[in-house]
Amino acid sequence: MRTIAIMNQKGGVGKTTTSVNLAAGLAARGRKVCVIDLDPQGHASMHLGVEVTGQMPTVYQVFAGEKTLAEVRHLVAPNLWVVPANVDLAAVEVELANMPDRELILRGAIQQLVKTDPIDYIVMDCPPSLGVLTINALTAVKEVMIPLQPHFFALQGLSRLLETTARVTRRLNRDLKVSGVAICLFETGTRLAGDVIADLTNFLRQSDPQTPWANAKVFQTKVRRNIKLAEAPSFGQSIFEYEPKSAGAQDYSSMVEEVLAMEATVPVSEAA
Ligand code: ADP
Ligand code: MG
Repeated sequence: MRTIAIMNQKGGVGKTTTSVNLAAGLAARGRKVCVIDLDPQGHASMHLGVEVTGQMPTVYQVFAGEKTLAEVRHLVAPNLWVVPANVDLAAVEVELANMPDRELILRGAIQQLVKTDPIDYIVMDCPPSLGVLTINALTAVKEVMIPLQPHFFALQGLSRLLETTARVTRRLNRDLKVSGVAICLFETGTRLAGDVIADLTNFLRQSDPQTPWANAKVFQTKVRRNIKLAEAPSFGQSIFEYEPKSAGAQDYSSMVEEVLAMEATVPVSEAA
């Protein structure tokens, strides 16, 4: 099983779009995939066609210790589940503030889930913050993937994010590695993106081999800005369902291939 947190504390960089379409692409290629929505905005849930209404349980109940992941997940396509979130999840940051082992809740919930039901990929859509929800994600996974929008300040934000992964590695999860950085919302033909990618590649190459990002790769796939990717969420469909011939579908398809190609080399979590 691979466990991947899609993380960046900045909003609007492509976390949700990447979580949903990567997961959908992996599921379409026969992998069993579970998306865990960790953003109180619930965008990944809606993008996958799950609108949280009434008493429908969400990942909030998992953090509150009232439900298991198996009890709250929805099958949304063959091989593809989502554990939905809604605004209730925002309360977790406060409610867990003084609880011992609050960072370990999600890890425990996943261990319980995969005991009875083998899964190939767990993909977590993180919120745009570095609070207790994101720390839970980083404690529960082996891999972090970082969507990055290529602009002048992108690398500054990245260093804070990487420090957080290093802190989690020391305190909570020795196995955590940054496996890749994916350029999203790529504007073809601009020089800035090329400069940012060159700086990023240099930075990673010069990193201390002890850091969790020492072997991170910059994905060959750059996800171009494509209006179909922005339209798909309102139909509750992945890009492969909504517009399979679009540039967005091509780009996420090639990202899926890159992620699959890493299967041979990445650390794998025990299935129990
Ligand atoms: P985050 O989860 O990091 O906040 P999103 O994935 O929600 O970012 O993306 C932010 C907005 O940009 C959303 O409206 C989304 O539909 C849109 N978007 C994301 N990636 C692309 C893209 N490659 N082309 C066009 N629009 C995109
Ligand atoms: Mg999001």
